[in-house]
Amino acid sequence: MSWLLCVLFFYKSSFILSQSVPLLLLVSFDGFRFDYPRLYGPLRYFSRLEDQGVHAHSMIPTFTTATFPNHYTLITGLYEEVHGLVSNEIYDSKTKSVFQSWTNMTDQWWPLKSIWTINEERYDGRSGVIGWPQHSISISKYEPYRKERSFKEIIDRMLKWFNDPIKPINFGVIYFPEPELTGYQTGPYSDKMKEIIKTCDEHLGYLLNEIDKNVNLKNNLHLIITSDHGMEEINATDKPIYLEDYVDMTKLKAFGTETVINIFLNSMNDIDDIFKNLSQIPHTQIYKKQDIPIRYHYKNNLRIGDLIIIVDPGYELHRRSFHGGIRANLSTIHGNHGYDNQMDSMKTIFYASGPQLKQNFTLSNTSTLYNVDIFALMCLILNITKCPPSNGSLANIQPFLIDPTRVLSIIEKETGKLQDGSISLVIYLLG
Ligand SMILES: [Zn+2]
Repeated sequence: MSWLLCVLFFYKSSFILSQSVPLLLLVSFDGFRFDYPRLYGPLRYFSRLEDQGVHAHSMIPTFTTATFPNHYTLITGLYEEVHGLVSNEIYDSKTKSVFQSWTNMTDQWWPLKSIWTINEERYDGRSGVIGWPQHSISISKYEPYRKERSFKEIIDRMLKWFNDPIKPINFGVIYFPEPELTGYQTGPYSDKMKEIIKTCDEHLGYLLNEIDKNVNLKNNLHLIITSDHGMEEINATDKPIYLEDYVDMTKLKAFGTETVINIFLNSMNDIDDIFKNLSQIPHTQIYKKQDIPIRYHYKNNLRIGDLIIIVDPGYELHRRSFHGGIRANLSTIHGNHGYDNQMDSMKTIFYASGPQLKQNFTLSNTSTLYNVDIFALMCLILNITKCPPSNGSLANIQPFLIDPTRVLSIIEKETGKLQDGSISLVIYLLG
C-alpha cells in the first residue's frame, strides 16, 4: 500500500470511528412473548445479546395490546388514548371516518412526529424504515412491508443503508411479522412455535454476525430487539360468540378486534339498556367510558366508544361482518392478543446493546418496563436534544445506561412535572 493510500485509509478510518452521529437499529419481531426464550431456549443468539447488552425480564405493552397501536407507541412513546391509534379498527366520531389496518390506511391516522422524523431534523440525521406497520413514511430511506421478503434480505438492505458511502443512515427500523403469524395458527405452546422461535434466533444470529463483520457498526451501533405484545392460547370451543346475538345492532356502531370492541351509541338514551344486554355476553367485561379503569390509559379520546367490551383472556368476541366472518372459524385460530396489558401472556421482550448501554445487565421482574419508555431511551441513545413529550419514564430506563447522570439530571429538572405518579414523566428536554 502506498503512503498516500495509507494516509487515505487512516483518514477514512478515523473519520468513521470518530463520527459524532450515534447509530441505532430498532427491530420488532411481531408477537414475541416475553417467556418464549425460557420456554423454547436456550436460544444461542438471544443469550449472546443478553451477555453483550441489557435486557428486561419482560416489557408491558400499551392497552389495547394490538399490533398497529403498539408499534405506534414504540415510536412516539405515547399511550393509545394520546396518539389516537386506539385499535386495528377505529371509528373517528368527529370525521366519521373508519380505519382498518387491513384495508384503509392513510396519513391522517399517523399525525404525530415519529422518532425517525425527529432524528432526521438533526444535522446529519438520516433514518431508514423497512416494513413497519404504518402508512407510507417520508424519510431518507423507506420500503413498505412485503410479505414475501426474507429476514436476510431485510437485514442486507438495512445494513447497506447504514454503510452507504455518501449518505449513510444513522437510525434504522425493521419489522418482521413472526412469531405472531405462527401464534395465530398454533397458539403459544406448539412444536411449530418452538420451530419459529429457533428461526427468529437464527435471524438474530445473522444480524449480529453481519454487524460484527463491520468495524464501524461493531463499535458504534446500538441495537434494540423488541416486539409489540405477547400471545394467549385460545380456549377450544366450536361455538363462536357473536355480538349480534346480544344487542340490536341498529342502535349502535361497533369497531375493534375480537378482543376489545368500542361501541358507539346512536342515542345515549339507550346506554343503560345496551349496557345490560352487553353484560349478558359470556367471558367479557363491559365498561361505560367514564368507568374504564385508569390503568389502561384508554379513555380520553373521541375514538374510544361510549361503551367498551374487553374480552377475557383466551376468548374471542366476533361480529358477523368483521373480516366477512372468516376469522370466526375457531378451528383455524389458536392464539390471539389484545387482552389486558398487565397479563403475563401479553408481555413482550426487550433486549438492547451498544456503547452507551451496560453489558450483561438484566432488569429483573421486580422492576417494570413499559413500551412507552423505549421512545425516551431512543432519544437518549440518538443524543437528540429536544424530544417531544412522552408518557414514558426516564427512571425506568436509567438502569440500562452506563452513564446515568444525564437521566438523573433531567429527572431532577422535571420532577415538578410528574403527571400521574410513577409512570408519566413528561420529557421536554433531553441532554
Ligand atoms: Zn402484533
